[in-house]
Amino acid sequence: MDTRAHVPTLLVLVAHPDDEVMMGGTLAKYAAEGSRVILVCATRGEVGEISDPSLATAETLGEVREAEVGAAAAALGVSDVRFLGFRDSGMAGTPANDDPRSFTQASANEAVSRLVALLRDVQPDVVITHDPTGGYGHPDHLACHRHMTQAVEVAGDPAQFPEHGPAWSVARFYWMVMARSWFLTMREQMAALGEESGFEGFDLNRFGYDDDQITTVIDVSAYLDAKNRAFEAHQTQFGGDNRFRRLPDDVIHRMMSTENFVMARPAPAPGAPRSADLFL
Ligand SMILES: [Zn+2]
Repeated sequence: MDTRAHVPTLLVLVAHPDDEVMMGGTLAKYAAEGSRVILVCATRGEVGEISDPSLATAETLGEVREAEVGAAAAALGVSDVRFLGFRDSGMAGTPANDDPRSFTQASANEAVSRLVALLRDVQPDVVITHDPTGGYGHPDHLACHRHMTQAVEVAGDPAQFPEHGPAWSVARFYWMVMARSWFLTMREQMAALGEESGFEGFDLNRFGYDDDQITTVIDVSAYLDAKNRAFEAHQTQFGGDNRFRRLPDDVIHRMMSTENFVMARPAPAPGAPRSADLFL
């Protein structure tokens, strides 16, 4: 019998290095409070943008972003960063979609198999991944959502993937989400500065969640320094001229201080009060 005490464990699956930063405060908080936190990137973000050509080339970007996410995780107090080993599929409609190594080209069976192996190995109580809209519809975000939903479903069934060891049931499965009100506030605040937010073209009827759909709000105000350092670590993505830095400090502080989640499994009872803790 295994007598080791089970440490509360949080596993996060994101599509690309940098997708973790908008929930970086949550990772930092649980790590600081003694939970085991594992960050898994489905891809190395090989076909992302390069903010400054001196930082990476198309050939080295995956390697550079692997180092960036390691530094970001370290800033958040997370030392366990893993990769599922697929390739960045790029934005919808780009040639990278057709690369046979890309995440979106992987068979559901292969992707779910790798995730079930991971869940049974790590034995997380809480799992978080992208929401069904993929945040902004990136094919790899959608693939994370689809495959992790399936993996959480079957990991607890000993008849499925018996080669990956004993079944493990994930207690709580969440989507990381952005509030529609957050996008609206960001647009307004940037407009007040005479700037574009970059969200002008977003159809907010499709992206972002209404406040009453959000089941769990984590207060990360004590971890904003760590979250900010995690942002800074992703130089190839957020380097150079970041227009959001022009917002007043108090606005940035307010907008970065809460992180939102929707509990997908078990489905919360209708009218249940909002939770402030992913484990409760
Ligand atoms: Zn991404």
